[in-house]
Amino acid sequence: MAATFPTQLIDGFDRRISYLRLSVTDRCDFRCQYCMAESMTFLPRGQVLTIEELLRTARLFTELGVKKIRVTGGEPLIRRGVEELFAGLGKLPGLDTLALTTNGSHLAEQAAGLRDAGVRSVNISLDSLNPTRFEAITRIGKLNTVLEGIDAAIASGFERIRLNAVILDGLNRDEVVALTHFALSKKIHIAFIEEMPLGQVNLGGKQLEYVSSDTIKSELATYFELQPLVSRDSSGPSRDYLIAGSQTQLGFISPHSHNFCAECNRLRVSAEGRLLMCLGNEESIDLRDLLRSGRSDDEIKSTIIESLAIKPERHVFDRPDEPQIVRFMNATGG
Ligand code: SAM
Ligand code: SF4
Repeated sequence: MAATFPTQLIDGFDRRISYLRLSVTDRCDFRCQYCMAESMTFLPRGQVLTIEELLRTARLFTELGVKKIRVTGGEPLIRRGVEELFAGLGKLPGLDTLALTTNGSHLAEQAAGLRDAGVRSVNISLDSLNPTRFEAITRIGKLNTVLEGIDAAIASGFERIRLNAVILDGLNRDEVVALTHFALSKKIHIAFIEEMPLGQVNLGGKQLEYVSSDTIKSELATYFELQPLVSRDSSGPSRDYLIAGSQTQLGFISPHSHNFCAECNRLRVSAEGRLLMCLGNEESIDLRDLLRSGRSDDEIKSTIIESLAIKPERHVFDRPDEPQIVRFMNATGG
């Protein structure tokens, strides 16, 4: 008799898991200060999930009630076979929202195809509007390419486009107002993210500090009227406001200052196929091994369901001198 499975994943703290973040590569064409070391050793290709394995993983999770998948990385749009991946994901029955997080460097060529494949929501990272500073933060990136990518995304008609900016004191804190005006001028959303202590971050030997969301919000509130948004979509831990008189939403993602773990609805699959229970903890299972050892769909689904017992209640990022997380963000899929 065929096994029956729940149509909704629920963890040990009664949280419904409806959202999967799928990292499709650990590689990137940028080297953002807060995300990667300048010289990185990337995973050998054989250790990264293949397109077929990624599609099987996504299908199994949607069969277990996942309604939203965000493709991330590394930089997803430099992954070989990414068109095939999106085409397959876009056809998954049961998936309500296919989303992408990208640095925007390849959006100008790919935006229209992604929209046609069924991507509904795109987050584009943009930490500075100053080309020199942008290049310093990303160590390689060209601002202009990303701005062209943002325009291509807008022209392609995605349902939702949001800029993501990680704000660090001494790096780009003075740009929060300009970045918000930019989002307003483009009629898209913007979120400010507190830096998470995932690796060593310094610029020219200077240790950089995260800036709390409350500090940024107070500053922005002197320029814009912010109306709290009560109903939130499943995009996760962002606390959102509407900028009065516009359609632009302003979000704050605050892993330090506002613990959002009680509402956690997500799991992550790293580029090498580890199913990570929490961005801020090490608990995981080796999905790649299950995928490559001839296990049936039912066996893998059973293991996923059992693994939820080790999803921790919360992350702890409040010991800044002692970063608990040694993984770089590009490997876990930020
Ligand atoms: N390469 C794509 C990009 O930059 O959007 C997708 C992957 S990137 C790891 C996803 C998001 O994580 C980006 O918005 C990036 O700014 C953010 N990020 C990277 N390292 C971070 C850190 N240490 N703390 C907070 N956010 C971080
Ligand atoms: Fe690459 Fe994104 Fe990390 Fe920047 S934040 S290095 S673009 S993966």
